[in-house]
Amino acid sequence: MKLIVQKYGGSSVADVARIERVAKRIVARKRRGFRLVVVVSALGDTTDELIALARKICPEPEEREMDMLLSTGEQVSVALLAMAIHRLGEKAVSFTGPQVGIITDQFHTKARILDINTERIRKALGQGNIVIVAGFQGKTLGGEITTLGRGGSDLTAVALAKVLKAKACEIYTDVDGIYTADPRICPDARKLDQVSYDEILELASLGAKVMHSRSVEVGKKFNVPIRVLHSRRNGEGTLITKENRKMEEVVVSGVALNEEEAKVTIFKVPDRPGVAAKVFKRLADANINVDMIIQNKTETKSTDLSFTVSKSDLPKTLRVVREAARAVGAAHVGCDENIAKVSVVGVGMRSHSGVASKTFGALAKRKINIEMISTSEIKISCVVDGKKGKEAVRAIHKEFGLGKK
Ligand code: ADP
Ligand code: ASP
Ligand code: MG
Repeated sequence: MKLIVQKYGGSSVADVARIERVAKRIVARKRRGFRLVVVVSALGDTTDELIALARKICPEPEEREMDMLLSTGEQVSVALLAMAIHRLGEKAVSFTGPQVGIITDQFHTKARILDINTERIRKALGQGNIVIVAGFQGKTLGGEITTLGRGGSDLTAVALAKVLKAKACEIYTDVDGIYTADPRICPDARKLDQVSYDEILELASLGAKVMHSRSVEVGKKFNVPIRVLHSRRNGEGTLITKENRKMEEVVVSGVALNEEEAKVTIFKVPDRPGVAAKVFKRLADANINVDMIIQNKTETKSTDLSFTVSKSDLPKTLRVVREAARAVGAAHVGCDENIAKVSVVGVGMRSHSGVASKTFGALAKRKINIEMISTSEIKISCVVDGKKGKEAVRAIHKEFGLGKK
């Protein structure tokens, strides 16, 4: 019997009616002769609510305790889904991440999966169960509960599909596939039938939260075919797969927006070797991921150094950077939470020129100022005023003719 790993996101299991609907889908699939491992996220906005609750108690809670708290969300949904399946007369058993041996490193709130012991899942499958696994969580070798970063249930699903050698990994969500831009921002966005791992990897790491970026990384590394589908509508969705000729002909495949970053600037950093190394070493030691970095040589003996980090890491970043600034003799540290990063992505950019000028031109026409720029082989990102982010996405989407014809 073919094994399929499915994942249902928070909005797909937001209330009892939706859980029951998902249960029906799962049971129907099982009865068509499949073995199923189902990964579920926390109900609706549970994770956001838990974070808000923690922040009411403490502005910078210990990350270990955050993981203790956040991992409860998924434990609720797996149990409820198993009960809903039982009511439909099928066997199902729910497990937490730690129970099924999802072993991670020790980096709380953004842990990486190191290993998965499949014994317990295989045994439960062998007994005829639909196996329901809590997404977004694991445990360290020392037995501490960890979480995998926001949206991390996708990663649980893809990693399980890989270790269980599943026939397919199906990600069920509240859109019917991957679009040329977030359809909530660009109503005329077009659904893509196929997208390459590299493109969705860029789109995901640049803010298109339809897929968790590390889940795509794992999918790419182990060649797991991933299909993104709507949890309530039928359709083919979008297949994430290896790059092919047809994809290379498309210069730009999508536009992404990230409104979750903040810009930090260290003013008057002494212009001498080793300063940047010192600052970024401290950030790395605190396990803070830095995104865009800008520094420019000036005619004076000092320079300003700016970079972006996730807003959720901002309190920790400012603490670390203020200490680092003192240590290297910089003047002061400032931050701007009102920024947005807009990115254009496409594997065809490798062989086509003019994408940057067209992108900048689209922003210029709307008088949107660019604060930072970064590029790679297959993407161009611009940081703009936070209030202009959505307008910038629509402008670029239109400029490249990505909308429905
Ligand atoms: P889930 O709870 O199922 O994991 P998410 O909210 O994490 O769902 O991801 C789905 C959302 O991603 C969609 O509702 C959509 O607004 C957003 N999104 C952003 N960019 C894209 C895109 N390019 N294509 C489709 N959806 C996108
Ligand atoms: N519940 C977690 C989150 O909201 C994980 C997930 O949904 O994938 O980030
Ligand atoms: Mg998600």
